[in-house]
Formats: sequence, structure tokens, C-alpha cells
Amino acid sequence: MSFSDLGLSQPVLQALALKSYDSPTPIQRDAIPTLLKGRDLLGIAQTGTGKTAAFMLPSIDRLVASGRGLRPHTCRMLVLAPTRELAGQIADSARAYGQFAGMKVATVFGGTSINMNRRDVSRGVDVLVATPGRLIDLVEQRALSLREVEILVLDEADQMLDLGFIHALKKIVTMLPARRQTLFFSATMPPAIRQLADKFLTDPAEVRVAPAATTAERVDQFVSFCRQDEKQALLTIMLRVGFGDRGNMDRVLIFTRTKHGADRVVKLLAGNGIAAAAIHGNKSQPQREKALAAFRSGDVPILVATDIAARGIDVSGVSHVINFELPNVPEQYVHRIGRTARAGAAGVAVSFCAEDERPYLKDIEKLTRQKVDVAPLPANFNQEANRIKATRKNVASDTSGEERRWEPRPRRGEVGRHAGAVKPAGRPRQRQRARG
Ligand code: AMP
Repeated sequence: MSFSDLGLSQPVLQALALKSYDSPTPIQRDAIPTLLKGRDLLGIAQTGTGKTAAFMLPSIDRLVASGRGLRPHTCRMLVLAPTRELAGQIADSARAYGQFAGMKVATVFGGTSINMNRRDVSRGVDVLVATPGRLIDLVEQRALSLREVEILVLDEADQMLDLGFIHALKKIVTMLPARRQTLFFSATMPPAIRQLADKFLTDPAEVRVAPAATTAERVDQFVSFCRQDEKQALLTIMLRVGFGDRGNMDRVLIFTRTKHGADRVVKLLAGNGIAAAAIHGNKSQPQREKALAAFRSGDVPILVATDIAARGIDVSGVSHVINFELPNVPEQYVHRIGRTARAGAAGVAVSFCAEDERPYLKDIEKLTRQKVDVAPLPANFNQEANRIKATRKNVASDTSGEERRWEPRPRRGEVGRHAGAVKPAGRPRQRQRARG
């Protein structure tokens, strides 16, 4: 099936041609014809499935077809997103897909100048992409009215709930006209999200793609057991020498659980002569944008992020995701590893698991219905770790070449995976390596 079979208009197909996508992804195939008919949609899908195009392409066509002009201080399509990064990215997609349909696109989110926001919407826009808080500020200042909204999209609703946007969302719904088309996307569908969806949607079509386990299947996953205080050395060695036959660490995304943790990793890596950028909620918007741009361009091929900041980061060619700390919410793990293996490409994810994180690993394996392959620590790990500690401030001398490649266990399907039976109950794997 090709995009032209889906009933999209010529200007949209022309914009798609510039993207050189071969064919629609499953969510695009399922959602686009339904949305073109004007139905509400409940999409259970996460970032990486092509959902932005799935909602943006038919919406552009519907905006063009409805033919209503722009009115000052209004928007015709409102997309709500949980983070600035995701909002920025959706707006970029809207501009790209809408370039031949003459779509006027603006963004509104915290961390930018509200006066600029006021100016951007003053003449009216076709597509407004916003985070909930700043949107409400604008409406309350009477700089924007939502009365002309024809299409509403709620993206990553589960994340919005996690971030405490529930009241904001309920408030926004009262500002919208009842007659509109509503699209609601969420990666997970716990009862609270269902209830929220019911509030927004009328007789929606439901599209469900890539449940958590399916995304996880596309990523080669490994776990290395180590002590918390060994993680830094492990990371340093891995970044320096690569990871077995999947050694080309072209673009590495490292996850920590906290903002503080992210800064600490960057600092310690810097101490070992490895440049990395961090992106998290405490960084200013320009700092975040700068870090992302450097990562995208490859100038800084290592980005350290927290879960929330990483939501919506769309960088192609992430070769490795490293979980410096395992997330305590198993769905986050799936989101994290989904950053590699995007749009069909396979990727590698390596998790560092300390003793106290083992319950998290267990939850993850339960959710994904997969055992994660164990990658033992490098053969000469203790020696290397000590050397790293000793030479942290003296990076230039670190060219002795005695580092050995770190060989993970065979890949899934090659010699059989680490099966539950192989792992002796109650005997942690890391004990199997020689310590010193
Ligand atoms: P999304 O899930 O919307 O964040 O999209 C994930 C990535 O897939 C983005 O980099 C898109 O540019 C890309 N993408 C979207 N649709 C397609 C497609 N049909 N074929 C290949 N890549 C796509």
C-alpha cells in the first residue's frame, strides 16, 4: 500500500514525497482513512510508530477542505503535547507536511516569551501546538480563543497525566467548541486515561499499534549486572571500546532516573575526557535546544537524559540506548529503548542493573514478556575500572591500547537467549565474574 491509496490530497502527497517514506506505517494505514472521514479517534500508540504523520496528514486535508479562513487570536487545529520537545517536533512535522497546503503553524510552550506567543497567534494560525499550562495562560490573558478549534489532538495523554496536567486538560476542554473532531493518543491505556478519553471523544474509532512488547522485540537488549559504584567505570569503558559486534556507538542516548543523576553522569564523563550533553527539566529552553541540536548534528554524540525530557525526542540513528539506571516504571523502559530502533531500524539497548534494581528488571521482563540477555562485565573490568579512577584527570595518557573489546553474549536467535533456567535462582549473575 502507498500513501496515494489512502485518499490524501496532492499538496500533502507532494510534501510526503520530500520525506521519501516508502509506505505508510500501520498506524498511518489504519488511522488516515478514518480521520479523513471526520471521525474521532482513540490511538493507542507511542512515539516512533509514525503517529504524528498519522494525525497531521489527514488533518491538514480536512482544514483545507473546510475552507474556513483564519480569524485573529484563534487556531483551527490545536495539538496538546506534554513536553516542549515533543511540541516543537510536532510543529516541525506540521510545517513540513503542510508546506504546500499553506498551513500556518505556531507553537506555544513554557520557557519561551509569552509576548512572542501573543504575537504569533495574533493573526490566527491553522495549527497551534501547545503544552497545556502556557496555553491556558494565553487564553486567560485573552490573547487566544479556542472557540474556532475544528480539530483537537491530545498527544501522549498518559505522559500528560503523569506530569500532572489533568486539571489543565479538563479546563481546556471547557474552552473548546463541542462540535469538533478529536484525536486522542496514548502509549498506555490505564483506567484514568480511559476516563479522560471518554471526556474528550465522541464515538471514536480505535486504532492500536505496537503494544509495548512489540516495540521491545525490535531492539537487541542486554543487561549488565554491577554495583551502583561500578556503573561509571562500566559506562566509560563501554563508550571507549564499544560493545562487542554492535560496537559502533555512533549516537548514544543515556538515561538516568533523576536530573541530578544526569548532571552527575555528564560531569564524570567529562572527567574522563568524554564530552556529553544533558537534557532535563532543570535546563533552560535554549540549553535544551542547544543540546538536542548538537546531538542531532553529531557534534556531541552522547546525550544524557531523564525520562520526561526524552519524551518526544526524535533523532534518527540512535545506535545505542544505555540505561544507566533502570526506570522504576516498566513502561518507561519501553519508551526509552524505543529511541533506538525507530521506523523499522534495529537498535541496541544496554541496561546497568545494580542489586537494588533487580525488581525493576523483573517488572520490565514481565511487561515485555521477554528475558533480557545478560552481557557479562568486560573480562578485565576491575583492572580497567581502577585505571579509570586513577586517570580520571589525566585522559590524554589513556592510549595504552590494552583495553579489550567488551563482548556481549550472542544475540537473540543466534545461540539461544539467556533463559530463565540458565540463571540459578537467587545467585546473582555478577558473582560469576572474577573480581580482581
Ligand atoms: P512519530 O511516531 O510520529 O514520532 O514518528 C517517528 C519517526 O518515523 C519520525 O522520524 C518520522 O519522520 C518517521 N516516519 C513517519 N512516517 C514514516 C513512514 N511512513 N516511513 C518511514 N518513516 C516514517
